[in-house]
Amino acid sequence: MAKKQNIKKKVEAAKKPKIKKGLRVSSREKKIHEIKKKLIAQRKALLAEAIEALNELPGQTVFPDLGDQASAEIDRSFMLRLRGRERKLLKKIEDAIEKINQGTFGICDKCGEEINIKRLEARPVTNMCIECKTQQEEEERLTEA
Ligand SMILES: [Zn+2]
Repeated sequence: MAKKQNIKKKVEAAKKPKIKKGLRVSSREKKIHEIKKKLIAQRKALLAEAIEALNELPGQTVFPDLGDQASAEIDRSFMLRLRGRERKLLKKIEDAIEKINQGTFGICDKCGEEINIKRLEARPVTNMCIECKTQQEEEERLTEA
């Protein structure tokens, strides 16, 4: 009787850590690895777009008349703004990649809890869990009103 229990305990002790470490952690890590690949591809595309936008800046455009100049200036300020937004997004993407490299990716900035993997897959650059984000948005709405 005592012998049987001992064997059972030994088997359980050998099995348990393997199951815990293996399945749960690696499926999240695997998904984060996929997210990293997507982020790198997104960064590459954004950089290509930004470079293209730079080359197309209408700085050297010759305006045939004043009427066209007005619309060209709208285009220019629009493009500058777009580049600013691209820059911001690029920064977020780079931060996310950096966090993945350091192993701190997917942790909520506000409460320190793990951010749901589905949320991370949908919005890899997010730095807050859905609860904190919702709370922040509600606070923002209140201060705006
Ligand atoms: Zn949170």
